[in-house]
Amino acid sequence: MLSLNSKFEYRNSKQIIIFKTSMFQTNKFRIWRIRILNLFRISDFGFRIFLIFILPVILLSGCQDKQLYKDNRVLMGTFVDVISPDKDAAQIVFAEIQRVENLLSKYKPGSEVARLNSLGKLTVSRETLEIIKKSYEFWQISDGAFDITIGPLVNLWGFTDKKYRLPKKSEINKALKLVGSDKILFNNLNNVVKFKLPGMKIDLGGIAKGYALDCAVKRLKENGIKSCLINLGGQIYCLGDRFGKPWQIAIQGPRKKEFKEILALRNQGISTSGDYEQYFSINNLRYCHIINPKTGYPADSGIQSVTIVTENNLEADALSTAIFVLGPEKGRKLADKFNAVDVKIAVDKI
Ligand code: AMP
Ligand code: MG
Repeated sequence: MLSLNSKFEYRNSKQIIIFKTSMFQTNKFRIWRIRILNLFRISDFGFRIFLIFILPVILLSGCQDKQLYKDNRVLMGTFVDVISPDKDAAQIVFAEIQRVENLLSKYKPGSEVARLNSLGKLTVSRETLEIIKKSYEFWQISDGAFDITIGPLVNLWGFTDKKYRLPKKSEINKALKLVGSDKILFNNLNNVVKFKLPGMKIDLGGIAKGYALDCAVKRLKENGIKSCLINLGGQIYCLGDRFGKPWQIAIQGPRKKEFKEILALRNQGISTSGDYEQYFSINNLRYCHIINPKTGYPADSGIQSVTIVTENNLEADALSTAIFVLGPEKGRKLADKFNAVDVKIAVDKI
């Protein structure tokens, strides 16, 4: 991700990015290297490119009649950026995402998910129960590719505490015994969720951001806010439009820092799962944070990234994770069962 260190003023939607291009040669290829040199005068083009990559660090202001407010915060372990002509939008979004994080984050000791993970049985809120049930439905429909019980495996590979390691086969086999969403028991009458086996842990990292985004959008609408862009760690939703024009989102290639495509979105979002955000490499092999629940190893389906364009963020979030595990062919078949507007898959060897 490209980044800037400082905040700067953003005026009147007119600015240009200057790129410096240079070329270097390997045995086989000539490779263009592009560097951002300078930023001045804002153009629409500049705005598009900023949205997804540089937006987390820009401060928006503008001419009186077309002012956009921008704010950001770290929530759910990632940057949240909010841009809106309404100055209250950011606080509404942050408060709602914080609420969902307090409920569903395995990292927050007091959250329902953290308590369930440590106790193995808990009476949860209706909301948490519904998310666990939704996750279970995705487990069923994805033939087990999406599975929130991968918690012990995520821990074993070091993705929870960021102390990455290559576990022994015996350790993986042991952890695999604790995996399988059919081992979660829930009682609809009293909201009790119970694990069948001691040591089971759920991890909602593949679905909670999408849900939080849906909740935030709902709150904005309740407050009469019609135009807002939310970027929750790359999971993005575009509410309404930007002064009559769609919001512009640039999609970056998973390996090269290049812009593959620019999407114009209104009341739609995108969700991306990729192997380039959280991973480690040993002997040139890349191990990413999305685990194949069948093998216990990081998913290795040939996909580098999958992006879902959608209206339903929860659905898109779970779907992008599942497709990443399933691979392009089975993944597209799964996507066909949902209302995804578009599915973009980048595979190895591009
Ligand atoms: P995402 O970036 O939405 O694809 O979510 C990735 C996160 O989901 C990981 O960091 C884990 O917390 C969790 N996760 C990993 N593997 C799976 C899986 N097979 N099914 C569901 N969640 C997973
Ligand atoms: Mg996901």
